[in-house]
Amino acid sequence: MRKNIVAGNWKMNKNVTEAQDLMFQLLEYKRNHTPNCEVWIAPPSLYLMMAKDLYEQNEIGVFSQDMSEHGSGAYTGETSADMLESIGVNGSLIGHSERRLYHGETDSHCNRKIKLALDKGLTPIYCNGETLEQRKSGQHLEVVKNQTEVALFTLSADEIKKVVIAYEPVWAIGTGETASPEQAQEIHAHIRNLIGNKYGKEVADEISILYGGSVKPDNAKEIFSQPDIDGGLIGGAALKMADFVQIIEGF
Ligand code: PGA
Repeated sequence: MRKNIVAGNWKMNKNVTEAQDLMFQLLEYKRNHTPNCEVWIAPPSLYLMMAKDLYEQNEIGVFSQDMSEHGSGAYTGETSADMLESIGVNGSLIGHSERRLYHGETDSHCNRKIKLALDKGLTPIYCNGETLEQRKSGQHLEVVKNQTEVALFTLSADEIKKVVIAYEPVWAIGTGETASPEQAQEIHAHIRNLIGNKYGKEVADEISILYGGSVKPDNAKEIFSQPDIDGGLIGGAALKMADFVQIIEGF
């Protein structure tokens, strides 16, 4: 059945020494333990090659935090799917709310990026979720439906099975406020139903849907115990080894 995954999104944190330190600690952990989930990290792109060199046996999945919606060419500052694939990176976050907020990304951009990633054999971690305003006005189910349809529903059944989805309510990211396990479960089941209605239940049941937004050692276990929650996308708590490991052990 579908995979359990705990993925750490380091965002724009850590100098090279600090990054290397945490990567080593994670490798040591993986050598001495067998967690009940896959462990992935998305460090700053500058450190992706270092991570791939260190994790020779693919012990830890290595993901980019973003990638270009273009194949190649005159796009200063961007990183293509082809480049990521060429250094052995496993995939990329796509459509994180901070990319949407600070860089104007939309679900149409996400759709193009997801296709480029899949074409190169990379795993897209497609992020979506409503804002506080949208939740307060009761639009959260509709917002997530539209996001999911625009970003994903041009894919074939074989393609969508390779996507990992991260539901991250914007109001819970970095705020210390977490969706309750029931609130998260409601949306996860909603997303799985939408996919089931379009592609069939078998396809929907294969897709890992992660929750993100202030997951911490003390709430991870309860969140992960929900039937449609297959893991977490962890920001702040992924920067400290002790916290990240406790979250991993929430499975
Ligand atoms: P957070 O971030 O865990 O710090 O809330 C989650 C994310 O943005 O992926």
